[in-house]
This record gives sequence, structure tokens and C-alpha cells, in this order.
Amino acid sequence: RAKTNPSETTCYYEHGMDEKARRRRQLANDLRLAIDRGELALVYQEQRSLKTKMLSGYEALLRWHHPGFGPVAPAEFIPIAEETGDIIRIGEWALRTACAEAARWPSQIKIAVNLSPVQLLKPDLPDTIAQVLLETRLPARRLELEITESAIISEKIKALHSLRRIKALGISVAMDDFGTGYSSLDTLHSFPFDRIKIDKSFLLRAEGNHQARTIIRAVLALGRSLGMPVLAEGVETQRQLELLIDEGCDEAQGYYFGRPVPIQGDAPGFVLAG
Ligand code: C2E
Ligand code: MG
Ligand code: MG
Ligand code: MG
Repeated sequence: RAKTNPSETTCYYEHGMDEKARRRRQLANDLRLAIDRGELALVYQEQRSLKTKMLSGYEALLRWHHPGFGPVAPAEFIPIAEETGDIIRIGEWALRTACAEAARWPSQIKIAVNLSPVQLLKPDLPDTIAQVLLETRLPARRLELEITESAIISEKIKALHSLRRIKALGISVAMDDFGTGYSSLDTLHSFPFDRIKIDKSFLLRAEGNHQARTIIRAVLALGRSLGMPVLAEGVETQRQLELLIDEGCDEAQGYYFGRPVPIQGDAPGFVLAG
């Protein structure tokens, strides 16, 4: 709609905002019951070693099928759940479900679960995780938690304390989406991360973009000097894969290897090597 009169434009715009706010309210409300109604599910995406080409683990990613709206993206509902506090229950459900699933896999395959900053800052998180590992009988060394930097920026001391207790359980921790937001070298070296995940935005821009490639190279050098393996997210093409191998990247994940998919533990679709 081009060149309408200003009052009409405003009206249209506000109507749009209202719609957005209504949807958000509706989602916030329905999310409370989503677990009990069986509307949440996890899908799993392969993580591969670039040295051996072997499957090293899966990342668990939440999916919500809303009865009215259909699929709602995590980018939309997770911030809502964080605001309402429902992320605590949802995150715990995701952790328990993913660990129970992974406990049925071959023992060399790890499971990575995303952790919200809201979960990280809750003092009983380490106890909850310990309880889930006990219940699902998943060995701690097979669990990795993915944390974005925003978790750490807001409350550094608390986050560090929590991370240390988590690590003491024998779980590993990855910094997710590295290179976006507030990434600082200080956070990386003062927190006990085991792995760096380069945000997919760099790889998506890397082909023919000298600057993005330089950043990838710098992150790899950083990982090497800190002793942290680096995983690249968002590998979609053979060329991107070759770039990563050229640069000496340790691991990768992306549509090129596989989309996030539902897994049933005994299903024949579960392929180990490649
Ligand atoms: P993330 O943890 O960085 O996950 C990677 C996202 O990139 C996923 O989006 C995945 O589907 C997508 N992706 C994977 N490979 C490719 C690729 O080759 N190309 C492109 N363009 N995208 C790719 P998804 O599943 O929509 O999740 C978005 C974000 O939502 C996640 O980013 C994570 O921050 C959050 N999230 C998902 N599940 C959970 C969860 O259980 N708990 C928490 N707290 N956050 C979650
Ligand atoms: Mg992640
Ligand atoms: Mg990520
Ligand atoms: Mg992300």
C-alpha cells in the first residue's frame, strides 16, 4: 500500500500491532498447557566431526504445534516462555525428553540441549540436571548444554557460579551463536566453555565475502589458542563445508548434513556413520 494518507497509514499500522499483541497474548496463554496437551516435541540435528566425518552428536531443538496457528517457531515462542517463566518447565521437559532419548543411543553419541538464560540463573538448575541424569541414566559426559552469551552478560557472577556447578557434574558446555550480540573475548576466556559454536550468519555470508571468512578464521584461531574445539552452524552447501575443512574447523552442523528430524530410538532411520 503506497501513498495512503497519514491517518490511514497509522490506523493500519496500529491494527497490525494490535494483531501482533493479540497473537502474543494467545501464545503466552496456550503455552502454559502445551506440554500437557502433547503439543511440544523435540527434533534432532546431526553434529559431525570434520576430521572423521563421523556423527558426534545431535542437538535437540524444540517444536511447538499449536492447534490453531500450526507450527510456531522457537524464535517466537521461546522469548514468550522466558517472559512468562514457563521456560523453566518447558526447558526441563526438553532436557528430560532429550536425555531419555539419548540414553537409548550408542554410547559415543552425545546430546546437546539448549539452555535459556532464565534457566541458567535459577539456583536449583544444577540439582535439576543431576536429577534428570539420574532418572534417565544418561552418563553426564554425554550431555552438552548450549548457552548463548546473553545468559552471561546480564548476571556474570551468578552465571559463572551456576556454570561451575554444572561442569562439576561432568557435563560439557558450549557457547552458542558465537560472534553475535555481545561476544567478548573476556567472556570466552573467563567462563569454562568446552566448545564454541560459530553462529550460522557468518557461514551464510562467507562465500565470496572476504570479511565473513576472516571472522571464521579468527574464531578458529581463538578456539585453538583457548583449547576449545569449534563447531560451525548452518552448513548448507558442499562449498561451505570445504571452506570449513580448509580452515581447520573441528565440527559442523547444518542442512547439508541433515535437517532437524524427529527420532524414535529404535527407528531404522538412525544412521551412525557416514
Ligand atoms: P540455535 O540453538 O542456534 O539452533 C540452531 C538453529 O539453526 C535451529 O533453528 C536450526 O533448525 C537452524 N539450522 C540448522 N541448520 C541450519 C542450516 O543449515 N541453515 C539454516 N539457515 N538454519 C539452520 P530453530 O530450530 O528454529 O531454533 C532457533 C533457536 O531457538 C535455537 O537456536 C535456540 O536458540 C532456540 N531453541 C530451540 N530449541 C530450544 C530449547 O529446547 N531450549 C531453548 N532455551 N532454546 C531453544
Ligand atoms: Mg543451539
Ligand atoms: Mg546457534
Ligand atoms: Mg540461534
